[in-house]
Amino acid sequence: MPTFRTLDQVEVKGKRVLLRVDLNVPMDNGRVSDATRIERVAPTIAEIAGKGGKVILLAHFGRPKGPDPKESLKPVAAEVAKVIGRKVAFAEDCIGEKAEAAVAAMKPGDILCLENTRFHKGEEKNDPAFVAALAKLGDIWVNDAFSAAHRAHASTEGLGHKLPAYAGRTMQAELDALTKALEAPQRPVAAIVGGAKVSTKLELLGNLVAKVDVLMIGGGMANTFLLAQGKAVGKSLAERDLAATALDILAKAKAKGCEIVLPVDALVAQKFEAHAPSRAVSVDEVGAADMILDIGPRSIEHVVSVLARVKTLVWNGPFGAFELEPFDTGTVEAAEAAAELTAAGKLVSVAGGGDTVAALNAAGVADRFTYVSTAGGAFLEWMEGKPLPGVEVLRQK
Ligand code: AMP
Repeated sequence: MPTFRTLDQVEVKGKRVLLRVDLNVPMDNGRVSDATRIERVAPTIAEIAGKGGKVILLAHFGRPKGPDPKESLKPVAAEVAKVIGRKVAFAEDCIGEKAEAAVAAMKPGDILCLENTRFHKGEEKNDPAFVAALAKLGDIWVNDAFSAAHRAHASTEGLGHKLPAYAGRTMQAELDALTKALEAPQRPVAAIVGGAKVSTKLELLGNLVAKVDVLMIGGGMANTFLLAQGKAVGKSLAERDLAATALDILAKAKAKGCEIVLPVDALVAQKFEAHAPSRAVSVDEVGAADMILDIGPRSIEHVVSVLARVKTLVWNGPFGAFELEPFDTGTVEAAEAAAELTAAGKLVSVAGGGDTVAALNAAGVADRFTYVSTAGGAFLEWMEGKPLPGVEVLRQK
């Protein structure tokens, strides 16, 4: 098992804990409109404060070019206080005199939120002087922001080289789930990769064919594979210039012993809109005016039968244009099957990526999956097999 240093290995009592969290929450008119990310890190904040640690929250917000009141973390800090039901102080800078004075005033169990780390250029540059200025404020660094772990920034990675570094509880749960899904999975392991385009997921497909036993491909990207196999896809979304790449992926899968499952039938329509008249056809019978907008009933049956014979599933991307009914059917039915198998203890199911989370939420199954990662870029880079700097720095040496 890969081992990461966690909060179980450190006595936080009386210590100044620099806790990197993801507070990049959606705002509407100066107010937090979705507090999911805050709720996810609340247990780590409460645990450290409860044990008498001094919790110093570090986070970025938006993409400011320098200090910008519009991208202040102040209203977000107020929302953190609301979610955890405790007082959260705020410092108007994340380094320097203001931050130092605010930290010096803290008592064990206090919580302080520092201003947006991206107000300083040194954050994204991972500048040693900026890292040192942050490090001065803490005794240890705890990273609870998996979603920012694909970036080697000062607060997401640099600090791990200056201070004793530990994974927070949310990071720990994410790493446990991801390890169970791809690094040390129970076999057989299947992957579902769907979504719009092959071009955005080339590295991901290349990594998966080498790691999983069955790869099920859906969504617009399946059309590129069908096209490469000489099938007509009419007006469907497809990347005609990537036919050779698709064939390479199929050849690599064969060499690695990875079974590829492509749609055998499709739900086609002539308009890209909800409730457009549609029909299910074999992938050999797609007409010139047709658009493939979802996988068809026989393909769904096949996907469900694969799920029933595997022990682990990792999922990124919908099977069809799930935002438009009835073209969400393939995604919803596969998601329901995976959720049921998971609830029955027969499947470990891990899913992630922006649209995937939205699709699983729409299907009402997210809470029955083993783990649904809300980290977009970091989840995809992990699926691509890339080391994540903010995770690597937490590895036990
Ligand atoms: P991605 O962000 O790559 O996971 O892609 C998700 C998007 O792919 C969603 O907006 C879907 O509507 C879209 N999509 C999935 N299947 C199809 C399809 N067959 N035709 C057009 N768009 C699709």
